Parts: sequence; C-alpha cells; structure tokens
Amino acid sequence: MQDLSELTQRASELDSKDPIAQIVEEYEQAEGWIFFDSNSVGPVPKTARNAANALIDDWIALRRRGWAERDWVDMPAILGDQLSPMIGAEKGTTVVCDNTTINLYKAIGHALAINQDRTIILTQKDNFPTDIHVVQGFERANPNLEVRYVETEEEALAALSDDVAVCTFSHVGYKSGQRWDMDKFNKAAQALGVLTVWDVSHSAGAVPVLARESNADYIVGCGYKYLSTGPGGPAFIYVRPDLSEKAWPPVCGWMGHADIYAFAGDYEPHGSIKRFISGTPMVGANQIAHCAAQIYQKYAPKDIWARHESLSNFFIDALQQSCGDLGVEIASPLNYDQRGGHVTFKAPGAGHVVEALIDAKVVSSFRKPDAIRFGLSPASLTHAQIAEAVGRLQKILKEEIWRDPKYANVSV
Ligand SMILES: *Cc1c(COP(=O)(O)O)cnc(C)c1O
Repeated sequence: MQDLSELTQRASELDSKDPIAQIVEEYEQAEGWIFFDSNSVGPVPKTARNAANALIDDWIALRRRGWAERDWVDMPAILGDQLSPMIGAEKGTTVVCDNTTINLYKAIGHALAINQDRTIILTQKDNFPTDIHVVQGFERANPNLEVRYVETEEEALAALSDDVAVCTFSHVGYKSGQRWDMDKFNKAAQALGVLTVWDVSHSAGAVPVLARESNADYIVGCGYKYLSTGPGGPAFIYVRPDLSEKAWPPVCGWMGHADIYAFAGDYEPHGSIKRFISGTPMVGANQIAHCAAQIYQKYAPKDIWARHESLSNFFIDALQQSCGDLGVEIASPLNYDQRGGHVTFKAPGAGHVVEALIDAKVVSSFRKPDAIRFGLSPASLTHAQIAEAVGRLQKILKEEIWRDPKYANVSV
C-alpha cells in the first residue's frame, strides 16, 4: 500500500506542471467537497449565477423586445459554434438544442430518410437506454425496419453490410467507460454506404472527439455532463455539412425554416445545420450554457484533453497503489485510448462505499451490482483533489467504515 504523502507529493508536481491548471478557477468549488459526478452533471461556471439573474432582469425590462435585442433566437447556432471545437467540428456544423434523445431521433431519422432502401439499424446491446428506446421506436413505427444488437467493436464491424441503413453507438459506454474507435468504424461504414450516429455524452468535454478528422456523419451528445451546460442544459447535434441538405429533418419546425420570420405556411428547410433546430430555443438554459461555452473559448481543446488524460491516469495509478490490496479492481480499460470521461472500478460493498464517501464529502456514483463510477472533469478537478479523495476512499475500505448501518440504504 502506497504511502499517501507520496501520492500527495506526486499530485502537487503534476498540478504545478499543468499548462492550464488555472482553468479550475473558472468554476465554483464547494469548500471541502470533491465532485466526481461530471458523468451526470458538470461543474458550475462562476459566471452562471449572474447570467441567470441577468436573464430575469431582461425578462422584466425588455419583455417581448428581448427577442430582438438579445441573442435568444440565435443562441443554438452561437453555442454550437462555441462548443464545436470540443467535438473537433468546424463552425456552422453544430447546433445546441433540445435533449440528447430528441437529437438522436433527428439524426437517426435523417439518416433513415437518406438510406431509405435499407432495412437494418445497428446499435449496442448495452447502449444507454434512451439510445435503444429511440431505435425501437423507429422499428415499431416502420415494419420494414429491424434493429440488430452488437456487443463488441469487432461484432459491429462484422455486422456491417449494404442492408444496414444506420448504426447508432455510444462513443463511450456509460457503464464500462469503454471508448470505441470512431475513426476506424466510420471508414468501414462509409465504404458500405452505412451512416453512423455517435452519441458522445460520455466523451465530449473530456476526451478527444474529432468530428471532421474522423469524417463522422452525425454526432449528438449531452451538454449537461462534462460540458457543464447546467442541470437539464441543452444537448447538441452535429451533421456532416454535405449530408445536412440531403433530406428534410425528421422534426420539421418553424425555427428550422429557411426564413423564420416569413411565417410561411409551407415548410422549407434552412440550407444549413439550422434545419435541425425545431422550435423556440430554451432561452434560460442557453443563458447558463453560454457561461460554459465562453470558458471553452479561452482554452485549447487539446490542453483540456491532455489534462483529462493526466487526471484519469493518475486516478487509476492512485487507486491501484492505495486501494489495490483492499479489493479495488479497475473495470474500465487500462489503455487511455480506450477510455472515456469516467473510470469504473469494483469494490467490496460498492453501494455502501459510495454512501460513506458522501459522508466524507466525496461524490461519485454507484452502478449495480458492485461498480463505482468516478466521472473526472478536466475543467474543475485537480490532481491534489484526486489524491485527497483516494485517501478518503482508502480509509473507508481499510477501516470497513462502509459496514456502518447508517450506510445500509443505498441511493442510486
Ligand atoms: C446521459 C445520456 C443521455 C441522456 O439523454 P437526454 O435525452 O439528454 O436525457 C443519452 N445518451 C447517453 C449515452 C447518455 O449518457
């Protein structure tokens, strides 16, 4: 078992070497607490509180003039441009709107409209539930469609054929933290005319997502996880520019019309990614999302990704060395290129350990039956906080504090 002071020493060396260590100053930190739940809700930009108040002031003072005098209508495209570097996309290719489920529906429906003569939708068996529900909805509505499920990347590659209309995969598995090779898969799919929709909810804002470089067709993802757009914050959709105009979007709405203010009776889709905007933007949520997007203007994505890699590797090392002989076993891939935003590990009494960790001011999440997930935010966490949290975990395991009856009730 490694001496904790050694760990603390290494953490402080890593923090002092980090070229963007100051990024953590952009976020509110709750004194004493260490949050590892960025796979659920990201850190809070310091500017968020004033932004929320400013919206209410505008609402009172401007009323309907707000639509003309503020960027309320344009915000989905503005935010899309500001967040697009975090998914390796160019300006004019991404809009921030709706939630991930609706954006999945829009991307898959658009791909199905392009590949109308094909009948198969491919997805992962252990994909996030909503991703599976969306494809099952398409299957039920269209008797010609059939959903096929694959478990591994190899199986997915082998299942490709010219009968497959669209594949929809999580870039990173929400349970395992396993990252798929987007580049390799896109090449294989495109060779057969198969369109691919990637859900990057557990990678965007943490690990590299390279829309353009990997020639991705569609990318959707949550804003409210690593990207810190706030609780229930808007999601995003990227569509490869040359695909966008090949079909109408599946949700045709007035905000995606070629000329919103013409109030035309007949639908005519906008000639850009904006056709994927459906109705009125979520102005309040966007106002908060904008705070996070502005922080991303100041830092290069490659520095944020490098910071995440360092935090994630340090966390795994620290866990193995300090808690390896206490029954902790890493369940996520050990190779960083195969990992996403979070690290999953198994521990004795996992659910109770997560409860005891909360008492020790460390927030993580439990996944049945025996796994603990630590979502590592490169925006707000330091190596020092990781060392501190691993120390608290070590104590809980070593002294079997988690067996205390007060941790018997496990919340999920
Ligand atoms: C969190 C998450 C979602 C959430 O979808 P919403 O519609 O935004 O609630 C979707 N897909 C994945 C992979 C997720 O992790």
